Amino acid sequence: MPTPIECDICVIGAGSAGLSVAAAAAQFGEKVVLIEKGIMGGDCLNHGCVPSKALIAAARHAHDMGSGVTFGIAAATPQVDYAAVMAHVHSVIAAIAPIDSQERFEGLGVTVIRAAARFTSASEVEAGGQTIRARRFVIATGSTPAAPPIGGLAEAGYLTNETLFDNRQLPGHLVIIGGGPIGLEMAQAHRRLGSKVTVLEALTPLAKDDPELAAVVLERLAGEGVEIIAGARVDRVARAGEGVTVDITHDGAQRSIEGTHLLVAVGRHPTVDGLGLEAAGIAHDRQGITVDKAMRTSNRKVYAIGDVAGGLQFTHVAGYHAGLVIRNALFRLPVTNRPEIMPWVTFTDPELAHAGLSEADARRRHGNVRVLKASFAESDRAQAERATDGLIKVITDRRGRILGAGIVGASAGELIQPWSLAVSQELNIRAMADSVVAYPTLAEISRKVAVSYYADYPAKPWVRRLIGWLQWLG
Ligand code: NAD
Repeated sequence: MPTPIECDICVIGAGSAGLSVAAAAAQFGEKVVLIEKGIMGGDCLNHGCVPSKALIAAARHAHDMGSGVTFGIAAATPQVDYAAVMAHVHSVIAAIAPIDSQERFEGLGVTVIRAAARFTSASEVEAGGQTIRARRFVIATGSTPAAPPIGGLAEAGYLTNETLFDNRQLPGHLVIIGGGPIGLEMAQAHRRLGSKVTVLEALTPLAKDDPELAAVVLERLAGEGVEIIAGARVDRVARAGEGVTVDITHDGAQRSIEGTHLLVAVGRHPTVDGLGLEAAGIAHDRQGITVDKAMRTSNRKVYAIGDVAGGLQFTHVAGYHAGLVIRNALFRLPVTNRPEIMPWVTFTDPELAHAGLSEADARRRHGNVRVLKASFAESDRAQAERATDGLIKVITDRRGRILGAGIVGASAGELIQPWSLAVSQELNIRAMADSVVAYPTLAEISRKVAVSYYADYPAKPWVRRLIGWLQWLG
């Protein structure tokens, strides 16, 4: 056995969360060991955000070719070379990969071990025959696609977000189990690239978002020809030649759907298997590793961050957790995880973005709230872009404090940012109403909705009295 490595921070997992901690800690002069059993960059770079957004961008090009008639441009039928589209997806991954590479981290002074890590005691990890002793450990092992208990599924075989981007054959009919963000983003992208698409959702599609805003996305998807069957129970899956047969029960009736490809997108489980958490006294349950507000586990030397820590599964949340760990572990500063300020975006067209409390949660917590709405049709820029199909909704308390916002529409993912800031800084709607927004931008819609808070002021008796009194003064 080689001599044990002694270090300040040992990070397990080289995905978004682990890489952020490792890079920052190394730059602050800490001795860092980073352990990764798979590909550097984790889910976001290799199987998640990056490839999916690259595929969505390609699909948008295909869609735009057929949707220019309102601009006076005749529709053209795109010639889609799916293998070439996937080559584009992988070249985007390759362009970003050097940032997350072993070479870059070694250049920062990090010792990178490419093996599976396992706790052997409360203060030691073993990886690739090497023992690592660290003052602090950070578990950032991410999550793994969940496999629903559906008869015949394992035998029939299926795609997940981890294998979808290795497929080189355009699905003739893509059947998707799960109507969450992964299911619907991939549904629309494949429909636009020329596949027939059926989505089977057990409950409600996009259930984590505001139903009024989600409805705009669902209507657009249906309009583009994506069949979404909500409240569908998938009874059985079987291989049928090159394709699959999926038996479902919907509205009390049984139905069989023949597909060429099957994608399962029913959520992701925290990756804890084989980590030896018991040996280190690290408590965990089905949700993931149990952490306190500083992301510390039941073993005070060990933090858990990103998807493995239970909460929201987003890359920006992983980056935020990494920041908390750096402040707490390196600088001993008190920190508090605030999941309630995390924004999120579903990258369908139109995009669907969320920050802070939803209308339903705000009503539950604050009772009396104000809900402000503005349609994208009120924006001159949206009119010019023919992107009027959208809505912004802002929730404030009675005094105008911004509690949450949701946007569905073009560039909603960009437009949500000031609202995310407003929620995290507990700003009043006045701040948004007073801000000056460049004309003509879609961002004007945010100011318009903020100004609507004051829409009834001219009719208020006290305002009338004040104006009258000021007039009397001359
Ligand atoms: P999800 O949990 O968000 O959605 C899964 C959906 O599958 C749910 O609607 C659920 O009701 C349904 N479902 C579960 N079992 C089913 C079954 N047997 N039959 C039919 N439907 C079933 O999960 P996801 O879409 O796989 O995404 C995984 C995680 O990644 C989520 O936390 C998601 O927020 C995140 N993600 C985020 C983005 C983004 O930010 N744009 C994109 C993709 C994924």
